Amino acid sequence: MKRWRSFAIAAFSGSVLAGSLGLARLLSETSGAPATSPAITSPATTSLAGAPTAPAPAERPPPDDGKLRIIAFGAHPDDCEFFGGGTARLWADRGHHVKFVSATNGDIGHWQSAGGPLAQRRLKEVQAAAEILGNSVEVLDIHDGELEPTLENRRAFTRLIRRWNADVVIGHRPNDYHPDHRYSGILVQDSAYMVTVPFFCPDIPAIKKNPVFLYFEDGFQKPVPFRPDIVVSIDTVIERKMDALAQMVSQFIEGGCGGDPGALPRDAGDLKARQEQLRQGWIRQLSADTANRFRDKLIELYGADAGRQVRYAEAFEVCEYGRQPSPAELRALFPALPAPEKK
Ligand SMILES: [Zn+2]
Repeated sequence: MKRWRSFAIAAFSGSVLAGSLGLARLLSETSGAPATSPAITSPATTSLAGAPTAPAPAERPPPDDGKLRIIAFGAHPDDCEFFGGGTARLWADRGHHVKFVSATNGDIGHWQSAGGPLAQRRLKEVQAAAEILGNSVEVLDIHDGELEPTLENRRAFTRLIRRWNADVVIGHRPNDYHPDHRYSGILVQDSAYMVTVPFFCPDIPAIKKNPVFLYFEDGFQKPVPFRPDIVVSIDTVIERKMDALAQMVSQFIEGGCGGDPGALPRDAGDLKARQEQLRQGWIRQLSADTANRFRDKLIELYGADAGRQVRYAEAFEVCEYGRQPSPAELRALFPALPAPEKK
């Protein structure tokens, strides 16, 4: 797992290094611990590992109220919040409808516990974060570390996008250090065309206007590095993003599967202190690194003065599959951005 140390450096090259918590997090996502039950791939809004569950009733789609509908797929219960939580809050503040899907239930993402209890704990964490960020949340009951780009999962992703009647779909790029990240990225890409095909999953009507598909930022260089098409200032919501991530104690305080007994808070006071340390620490710095890394794009989108002043940012790249938006259309999908400057 050592190589993730270099990933941390390469991915967010720059400045301060993630620090021990950061590395712990990057090391944290799975470690090959045994899973405890067969994967259940039916979407379930409050699905839990450890026992077969019936498919949850389809979640009601957002109202057709003229607002944007965004659905993001992360591999684990923390990825969407980590890579897109600030932008989600900006959308939600304007009344747009954001849903975060975790493609796996996170049930091996801890050094001390695993299985159903961990999946339940992580579900509660993303629900608490959603209260702060203003998004809906769904955790698929697929074991952490075991996501595969199967036909069944392609159908599940396609149905989720159609149910949400999405304008925007976000996922990982398919070249990433973690197999769940890679395969959830593949599944999003596999859905990018199929959501429009009427007789694929004909139980749910096909989307008439193909959504715009975006990738979360990452630092991987091969085969091609991430190239930002949109960079969003999250300065006005950085505190809420940090509040949300501080809810994910199993991952960002206790270190996920890369933690150790020293990471366990001793008592409520110690937990609070560690949460504050997290709020001021490496994740905030990564948001600053994103702003500095893509400063030129921020200046292009926000104008020279405002673009230079942005402190914290999240970045997204347009996927080649799905609808290809014009620059004006892409900007319109991010209403927190200012109107373009007149030339
Ligand atoms: Zn992950």
